[in-house]
Amino acid sequence: MERTVYDIIIIGCGPAGMTAAIYARRMNLSVVVVDGGVPGGMMVNTEEIDNYPGFEKVRGTDLALAMYDQMMKLGTTHEFINVSNVRKEEDLFIVSNGEKEIIGKSVIVATGTKNKTLGLDSERKYFYQGISWCAICDGPLYKGKDVAVIGGGNSALSSALTLSKFVRKVYLVHRRDEFRGDPLLVDNVKEKDNIEIIYNSNVIEFSGNPLDKITILNKNGDKRELSIACCFEAIGRLPNSEFVDCDKDNDGFIIVNEKMETSVKGMFACGDIIKKGLRQVATAVGDGAIAAMSASSYIK
Ligand code: NAP
Repeated sequence: MERTVYDIIIIGCGPAGMTAAIYARRMNLSVVVVDGGVPGGMMVNTEEIDNYPGFEKVRGTDLALAMYDQMMKLGTTHEFINVSNVRKEEDLFIVSNGEKEIIGKSVIVATGTKNKTLGLDSERKYFYQGISWCAICDGPLYKGKDVAVIGGGNSALSSALTLSKFVRKVYLVHRRDEFRGDPLLVDNVKEKDNIEIIYNSNVIEFSGNPLDKITILNKNGDKRELSIACCFEAIGRLPNSEFVDCDKDNDGFIIVNEKMETSVKGMFACGDIIKKGLRQVATAVGDGAIAAMSASSYIK
């Protein structure tokens, strides 16, 4: 049986991967995008994006769908599989999930990041049953109830704002007295009557059956119990890079040069997965375009 060898295999269907596919298809390269999840990456978990140029305000799902449509109309192949391994045999890359294998002359890794957890003993049993990482998806389930959001970055701030539309009260618990997120979001949060900001505090325990309480400890050593129906964790993200063997930093973010080249010839990386300072849709699409151009040069 004749096997298909794609010019580029793009792993990950977020803004970086989809932009790479759009650029590569416009250069007439054969492209397969491989992803096991919903197209759009973190955009689909973001209710409103208001810092992507050209769109004063756009729903994350709408932007994701527009990018996906554009990519598919250009003739990209999309394979819904969760990649567990990438290997190089001579000059070809083989990407697989343990069952199916996809072969390409080059690979672009754009698998983004996954949720970080607090690592408490009492936490794991509530994963997806009382603890959530997606305010847009799960917020409506807690209409009229009290919930908590943990974190002090843009994700925590935008989650708190999203939830404030549905729930009775949001406790926003941050471990410091200053937010890491954008000042504009901080101002928006402070204006909401139903968001209580609790600074200098860490969650030390989850309890209830189902989850109905978190215990927090502040810097003075004072404990407080919060009755909540759900706890939304937004404490940062870790890279989805375990399945690739190339140079990474201590946290697992892939090290690339300005051409998005990894330490493996013919393998490129772009978007949130790479070691960089600013992870946004706007930076992801820039990385994706560069990765596609570099992969094109490599193939030629
Ligand atoms: P982040 O910016 O890394 O913020 C993580 C927050 O969680 C920090 O405030 C951090 O506290 C806190 N944290 C980390 N570990 C913790 C722990 N063990 N216990 C308690 N708190 C902990 O992550 P993010 O908010 O997910 O954002 C990730 C990237 O996506 C950022 O570049 C962000 O700008 C971008 N993003 C942008 C938007 C937007 O533009 N609207 C929306 C979402 C995400 P410290 O501050 O004390 O370190």
